[in-house]
Amino acid sequence: MADRSVDHLLIGGGIAAATCAQTLREEGATGSILLVARELDPPYHRPPITKGYLGGTETKEEGLIDLPEDVEVLTRTSVMALDLATKTVTLSNKETVAYGTALLATGAMVRRLQIDGVHLDGIHYLRAHGNADSLIEDAEAVTDVVCVGGSYIGCESAATLTTLGKQVTVVLLEEEPMERAFGLQVGAWVRGVLAGHGIQVVSDVEVERFEGEGDRVQRVVLAGGRSIDAELVVAGVGVTPDVMLARKSGLEIGERGGVRADAQLRAHGADGLYVAGDIAEYDSPVHGGAIVRVEHEEHAAAQGRTVARNMLGAAVDHTEVPYFFSDLADWASFEYVGPALAWDEEVLEGDMAEGEFTVWYVADGKVAAMLSAGGHGDIDRGKELIATGGAPPTNN
Ligand SMILES: Cc1cc2nc3c(=O)[nH]c(=O)nc-3n(C[C@H](O)[C@H](O)[C@H](O)COP(=O)(O)OP(=O)(O)OC[C@H]3O[C@@H](n4cnc5c(N)ncnc54)[C@H](O)[C@@H]3O)c2cc1C
Repeated sequence: MADRSVDHLLIGGGIAAATCAQTLREEGATGSILLVARELDPPYHRPPITKGYLGGTETKEEGLIDLPEDVEVLTRTSVMALDLATKTVTLSNKETVAYGTALLATGAMVRRLQIDGVHLDGIHYLRAHGNADSLIEDAEAVTDVVCVGGSYIGCESAATLTTLGKQVTVVLLEEEPMERAFGLQVGAWVRGVLAGHGIQVVSDVEVERFEGEGDRVQRVVLAGGRSIDAELVVAGVGVTPDVMLARKSGLEIGERGGVRADAQLRAHGADGLYVAGDIAEYDSPVHGGAIVRVEHEEHAAAQGRTVARNMLGAAVDHTEVPYFFSDLADWASFEYVGPALAWDEEVLEGDMAEGEFTVWYVADGKVAAMLSAGGHGDIDRGKELIATGGAPPTNN
C-alpha cells in the first residue's frame, strides 16, 4: 500500500511538467495534482539562462512559471523509483505515492567534456539558475572567455558575455556556428553577427585540453597546438536526455536516447504513463510518423499540454510542429519550426545582410523546416506547410 495516492503525478520540475499542470486545471481537471521537482527552484524558463538572466536584465522571479494554487509542488525532491505495474513511485523523502496518470518529464543533463584539465576552476556549463549564478560571479574579474561549442548555447552565451564587456572566442568542431541544426548558410550568417560584435569564431577544430596556473584555467589548447587565453570557459557541447529513472523502471529507450512514446505521448508498455519534453522520443504525425526527439522550450510546453488533455481522456495525437527561438543579445534573433531531419535544398527569401530573412528547408520538394530571422516571414505558414507536406512558396 502506498502512503498516499494522487490523480495526476508530474515527475520533473521543468516547463513540460509545469505546462501539463496548468493545462489540467484549464481543461477542468478536479483531481489532485502533485509535481515532484529535483531542483531548488519551482518550475522556471531556462532560455533566459544564456540571455537576460546571464546578462543581468532579467531576474529569477521573472522566469518562474505560474502554477495554479492547488497544484502541490515538492521541490528538492526526486522520484527515486517508478513501479509501472503498481503505478507507484518512491520519493527521496521515502514517501510512496500511487498515481492514476503520470507524466515523466525529467528533461536533459549537460554533456560534459572528457579531456585533460576539465577539473580546473573557471570551467562552466549552463543548465540551471545555479550554474548561471556561479558563472556570473566567476566572470566578474575576468576578461578573456572561451565558449566551447557552436550550438545556440555557446553562441548565445558568447553574445551575452560580450555585452558584459568580455573578450570572447567561440571554438567549434563544425565549419559554421549552429550549422548542424540550420545549415551552412544560416551558420555563416550567425558567424557574421558574432564577428560583427568582436567575437572571434574558431571553427573546424577540436579542443584538446585545458591548461591552468594553480587550480584556475588559463588556456584552451586546440588540436594542432594553437592555444587561446581563457580565464573562463563556457562549455555548451550538447545534452543527453535524463533517462536514469526511466531506464531503472524498465521503460523502452529509443535510438535517440529518449523514452519511447506513441503519437499520443503514451510511454510504450506503461499504463497511464506519458512522456513529454526533452526526454520524449515519439512517433510524430507531422513528420510522417518519423520518430522525433526535440530539445526546445515551446515544444516541451506543447507536449505538456497534449499530455494533460490525454490524461483527461482526449486520446489526441501530438500534432504541434516543434518551435524553437534564439536571441544573440539584442543583435539578432530568429525562430525556427521543423526540425528538418534531412533536406536537399534551402530557399532564401529576404535580406540576410539586414538580418531579415526566411530560409525554407526543402526535402523532396516539401517544406521540412522554416527559419525566420528578424521577424521576416510567417512562422504559422511554415508550420502549416510542414504539417501538410506543402511545397515552399515561390521565390518571387
Ligand atoms: C541555458 C539554456 C537555454 C535555452 N534556450 C532555449 C531557447 O532559446 N529556445 C528554446 O526553444 N529552447 C531553449 N532551451 C531548451 C529548453 O529550455 C528545454 O528544451 C526545456 O527546458 C525542456 O523542458 P523539460 O521540461 O523537458 O525538461 P527540463 O527543463 O530539463 O526539466 C526537467 C526537470 O526534471 C528534474 N528531474 C530529473 N529527474 C528527476 C527525478 N527523478 N525526480 C524529480 N525531478 C527530476 C530535473 O532536475 C529538471 O529540473 C534552453 C536550455 C538551456 C539549458
